[in-house]
Amino acid sequence: MAFGVYIHFPYCLSKCPYCDFASQATAAPHDRYAQAIARELASREPEWRGRRAASLYLGGGTPSLWEPAALAAALEAVREVVPFDGDAELTLEANPGACDAARFGAYRALGFNRLSIGVQSFNEASLKALGRKHSGPDAERAFALAREAGFANLSLDLIYGAPGQSVEGARGDAARAARLAPEHLSVYGLMIEGLEIETPMAREVRRGRLEVPDDEAQWLMGEEIRAELEGAGYRRYEISSWAKPGFESRHNSMYWLGGEYLGLGCGAVGFALEDPRDPSKGGRRWGNHRSATRYLEAVESGASPESWSERLEARDLLRERLAIGLRRVAGVDIEAVCAELGQDPEPSLRAARGLVERGLATLDGSLLRLNDRGLDFHTEAAVSFV
Ligand code: SF4
Repeated sequence: MAFGVYIHFPYCLSKCPYCDFASQATAAPHDRYAQAIARELASREPEWRGRRAASLYLGGGTPSLWEPAALAAALEAVREVVPFDGDAELTLEANPGACDAARFGAYRALGFNRLSIGVQSFNEASLKALGRKHSGPDAERAFALAREAGFANLSLDLIYGAPGQSVEGARGDAARAARLAPEHLSVYGLMIEGLEIETPMAREVRRGRLEVPDDEAQWLMGEEIRAELEGAGYRRYEISSWAKPGFESRHNSMYWLGGEYLGLGCGAVGFALEDPRDPSKGGRRWGNHRSATRYLEAVESGASPESWSERLEARDLLRERLAIGLRRVAGVDIEAVCAELGQDPEPSLRAARGLVERGLATLDGSLLRLNDRGLDFHTEAAVSFV
């Protein structure tokens, strides 16, 4: 079973009004946070020691604010317990407003071989509407610095559907991103509802003080972006993910394929199978405190940093595997997943046939794949398996 490590760094220069991530605009306690990661890891060591990780993802927050020396200490602690495969994918999220050549060089020297740059848009009006503090040229400069530092695998994040954005504006962002020729792109429609917390932007929309493009406009933007990226040689391999051949995100693929992950840090989520050789025995998922202060205080006092935890039986894992697996354009093999989890495939195949009848998917033997329309309605399709 694939296994990866996720570290969350919750500090940002400012809080974007649409963001529901565990992040806060306060000065980062660089060394203290690194020590907390090492302490949390020590408390989880018996469960994970000896496992080899195929990927590490440092997300946030704004990890490119983390002083390289402090990050090095945290990484050393992780490597000591969980060594990485020789060809492991090590990704760090970078903010165009918080990066420079020296930092990128230092991250490269620490073993990071992939950067995910949070561009979101190149358009000044869209960036302002999203509350971002960087500019389009800042994003291009960050990209050039990353290349100069030796990163041969770069991903750009874009958001479409910002207040005031037009369909042409969304396509323009995709075109400008493609011109930089990153190996990977993650492209998300702006989410206002269904988030973990109500954001300031969602509140303004609910009160009628702010308008965002409606569902149809957002769908059209998605279509235009798809045309632009396909024309530029990118292949959509997951609902929001595009890559040049061979550059699909290995860490994210691990999530979509039901792998295990050791989550460390404030707000991080982890998942461990009871027995990695037998997924039918179920597993456990947990999440750490979303408040950095609560997380640090818990770890430093020797208490558990977890704010929730749930036991997942094989039938729960099956629902998740099918629902999340459907995010992948390659689809999900129902019989193979059921065999792995010791479950009867018939009810799932029946639900799959229902999706085919509704024109959302194809079923080839037991391989279920959403088509473009199905990917647009993924949430609806996934509900069929719940
Ligand atoms: S920089 Fe990213 S993590 Fe930080 S507030 Fe903005 S969207 Fe959230």
